[in-house]
Amino acid sequence: MTSTISIVIGLGVIAFLIYSFVSRAKRSNFKVTPINRKRLGQSSKQACTYCKRKVDQLSFYADRQGKVIGVCNTCKPQAERQALLRI
Ligand SMILES: [Zn+2]
Repeated sequence: MTSTISIVIGLGVIAFLIYSFVSRAKRSNFKVTPINRKRLGQSSKQACTYCKRKVDQLSFYADRQGKVIGVCNTCKPQAERQALLRI
């Protein structure tokens, strides 16, 4: 009788530990996403895919692999010559 109770308590403790671990992992996952978004927002200047210069405004194109590339005004004709899709 006593051993049954201790097994039940033991299982309860294990279940609680698993639950607290899972909920902590979930919480830390939720934290990661906003931090990444914040970082993306902070870097207002983006580098041109071709000349790597950092400019305020980039024109975005999709290449044949579906990859998005950003080009500055100087490199824009270069992207248009390759018949890339303007986004
Ligand atoms: Zn450029």
